[in-house]
Amino acid sequence: MSWIENRFEPGLIVTSLDWAINWGRQSSVWPMTFGLACCAIEMMATGASRFDIDRFGAGAFRGSPRQSDLMIVAGTVTYKMAERVRRLYNQMPEPKYVMAMGACTIGGGPYFKHGYHVVKGVDLVVPVDIYVPGCPPRPESLLEGLIRLQDKIRNDTIGKDSLTRAKKALAV
Ligand code: SF4
Repeated sequence: MSWIENRFEPGLIVTSLDWAINWGRQSSVWPMTFGLACCAIEMMATGASRFDIDRFGAGAFRGSPRQSDLMIVAGTVTYKMAERVRRLYNQMPEPKYVMAMGACTIGGGPYFKHGYHVVKGVDLVVPVDIYVPGCPPRPESLLEGLIRLQDKIRNDTIGKDSLTRAKKALAV
């Protein structure tokens, strides 16, 4: 939660501030440089020149969770890595968002039945905002997920009645 959120009653000024803040946030999403398995290759392709995620203002992949506001969980989440994923999430500043990319991340994928080592959904580890299905999802799918995330950010409010992300994170 940023310092400005949940301090004001909804009203004209809050609505105007919402518009300006959300426009800034949706236009400068900074993903973390972070991949777990084959889906990460598609994520890299999305950042390259052919698909050019920079067109959506989300091309500044950061090398540190402390400078990132989007975690794209791309690949198989094993029990060994789950603790690291959670730690990286905790190190990101608010407001932060999570995209679950690929069947493995969303629900265990091809490892669902026999993969004793695979977490059956990253939503058991971190709160997920957007799901991008596929094995692997193509770059166009990831871009579609990003557009949906931008829609979600556009509807955020700094008003008092919003459910804070901190509460959401605690619920996981
Ligand atoms: S969903 Fe498919 S492509 Fe993605 S990590 Fe799992 S097996 Fe690999």
